[in-house]
Amino acid sequence: MLARAFFHLRRFLLDRFGFLVATGVAYLIALGRFAGLELTRERWLELAAAGALALALVVRALVGRPEGRSGLVRAADRTEAGVVLLAAAYVAIQLTGGPRSPLQPVAYVALAYLVGFNERAVGALLTLAAIALQAAVHLGGGELPGQLWPFAVRAGFILAFSLAYLVLLQGEVARRRREHQKQIAAEIRAMREEARDFRLISSALSSPERRDRGEEEAKLAQGAVESIHQGLFFVLELLKKSLDLQTCVLLWLDDQGEQLRIKELVTDSTMVTEVPIPAQAGALGGVVKNRILLNLRTARHGSRAIPYYGGPERVGAFVGVPVFEGSHLRGVLCADRREDRPFTPAEESLMVEATRQVLRSIQAERVFAAVERSKYEHERFYRASTMLNSALTLSQVYETAFAAAREIASFDFGAITLYDRQRGKHVICRVQGEGGEKLEGQEFGDNAGLVAMVVKNKHFLPAGDDRAKDAVVFTRKLRLRGIESLVVLPLSVQENGLGTFVLAARSSGRFSKKTREMLGVISNQVAVSIENAKMYKRMEEMATTDGLTSLPNHRTFQARMAEMLARAERHGKTLSVVLTDIDKFKSVNDTYGHPVGDVVLKRVAKVLADQVRKVDHVARYGGEEFVMVLEETDARGAHLFCERVRQEVAAQLLTSDKGSFRVTLSLGIASYPGDGREQKLLIERADQALYAAKQGGRNRTVLYAEMLKSGRAASG
Ligand code: GH3
Ligand code: MG
Ligand code: MG
Repeated sequence: MLARAFFHLRRFLLDRFGFLVATGVAYLIALGRFAGLELTRERWLELAAAGALALALVVRALVGRPEGRSGLVRAADRTEAGVVLLAAAYVAIQLTGGPRSPLQPVAYVALAYLVGFNERAVGALLTLAAIALQAAVHLGGGELPGQLWPFAVRAGFILAFSLAYLVLLQGEVARRRREHQKQIAAEIRAMREEARDFRLISSALSSPERRDRGEEEAKLAQGAVESIHQGLFFVLELLKKSLDLQTCVLLWLDDQGEQLRIKELVTDSTMVTEVPIPAQAGALGGVVKNRILLNLRTARHGSRAIPYYGGPERVGAFVGVPVFEGSHLRGVLCADRREDRPFTPAEESLMVEATRQVLRSIQAERVFAAVERSKYEHERFYRASTMLNSALTLSQVYETAFAAAREIASFDFGAITLYDRQRGKHVICRVQGEGGEKLEGQEFGDNAGLVAMVVKNKHFLPAGDDRAKDAVVFTRKLRLRGIESLVVLPLSVQENGLGTFVLAARSSGRFSKKTREMLGVISNQVAVSIENAKMYKRMEEMATTDGLTSLPNHRTFQARMAEMLARAERHGKTLSVVLTDIDKFKSVNDTYGHPVGDVVLKRVAKVLADQVRKVDHVARYGGEEFVMVLEETDARGAHLFCERVRQEVAAQLLTSDKGSFRVTLSLGIASYPGDGREQKLLIERADQALYAAKQGGRNRTVLYAEMLKSGRAASG
């Protein structure tokens, strides 16, 4: 309560106390109370008024006014201050003789000052206040209302002063202000010019050689990043091809974990959205939330379920794989198909493997972004790792591994060994340098040699260069001779020892500590590249072979037959194509179950694969149909061969829970060039022959030419 009262009192004192005091003082002046200088006890009111006036002035001078108040409030403040000052001046005038006081000019000067430094409205108000105070002095002196003239003259002076100062002083202030602004503008201009000059000078000072380096550095980094992006795109495209996808997309989580953005995309759809996707949306939300692979086996449509589609796109099957970096969820790798064909466990595992490659690309991108800011000396390092990035087959990886190592150290002998964990054997896969031919392809078991030790401990050996001379690298028998420098580096991925990278030289001291460290990084990359090459190989296999029977698939058959046909044409040789279909296979499925049906398909596939020669081609044509292309084989030869195959299949005893059984084949043959010259026609005719075999009672072989003859005989 008291605090509130105090607050209001203080605010009033600070706010409009001045006006109040000035008005009171003006009233006292009008009464003539300040006339005469003698101080008597009865003059307490005047003293108090004068004291209050002084207080108002002091408060205003000391406390000032807070910034940021409205223009009107600020004008009122200034008017108040002016009024207080004028009141004080007129008190002094009345004290020193009233209208005829020698201090009268003080009022003019005070007013002139106030008018000159305030805006016009405030100046006008203060001029009026001065005239009012002047009138009060005349009233107090007893002149008014009787003698008007002396007051009129002084009021006229007041007006003249205030007008003159308005014109003179404000004009002067404006001029000064303009000058000041001009000065500031000039300074800014000078500063800008200086900055520009500085840049010019600094670029003139740098030598052309230096500039080239900078440019090259930037290009290197840019190139590296591009190659990484290409790598990423390549992985997605490969996945799309090998898994028959509609869309393969990598989505990346933002730092807050709230949104997913498309990082790389390969798609046949036009519906994929451009905008960021909330991390909780649809199937993606499931992957982000549960941090596990999600495999949707039933069809759905469009953006709600599969949120990377902005519109209604059909999705028959979907798989989303979380991409982890350590324990950190970074994004989701997604794949979908239009048709209703769920993703198999093998396909799932391929996707998981691909996330590893994806992650490596992203990590590399991050490293290169940092490297862009770093120095030229890393150039060879970039080159080495970019080379490894673009190696796709195992053979390419081996070759680039040596080339990459040469960027860092010179050596006379190099070898890459891989460890076959299942057989417990180390295989010398590739050797470069003298005596390589002898070593390449050699295998050996676990022993006390450096290669075996390095695979086991995943740390390079030997510890020092000096022990190179009589070190056993592979085995005692497979000895390296004349070695002075040696390093055996581990090839490992995620604590998994894949093999070793062996480098040796005939002179000593080739592999310093720093060199070994750099080679260590390179061999890490080699290891990942080896894993990737294996992955690519599996992808390629998936794309070209049939998952159930491991035979080439339909697509591969078409390509292979085209090659074989072209060769036959070129060399004027014959060629036969055989289409075969298992008889009554539906009843096998119905009687023994689908899994047993699958076993039958595998068995038949194996018989066919065993029967054909190396030069021939056998593939799964689709369902329970197979196709064989027999090189340099005419219709007669093909018939003999098919009969052998048919008997071999019929001889197979198949077993199941419900007892054992056998299956038979029907086969149709068409031969080049007798039955046709074009691939499509030959296949068509083989199919007609197969149909005839089925019609003829199954478990038989029909030649297209024979079929025609018997058809004519039947109709003729
Ligand atoms: P026929 O050829 O002698 O005229 O009789 P069929 O019973 O073999 O007839 P059809 O070609 O119509 O049947 C093929 C069956 O093969 C139908 C399908 O369920 C089955 N099938 C196709 N692919 C597979 C597969 O991968 N595994 C299994 N178990 N069955 C398959
Ligand atoms: Mg069939
Ligand atoms: Mg059949």
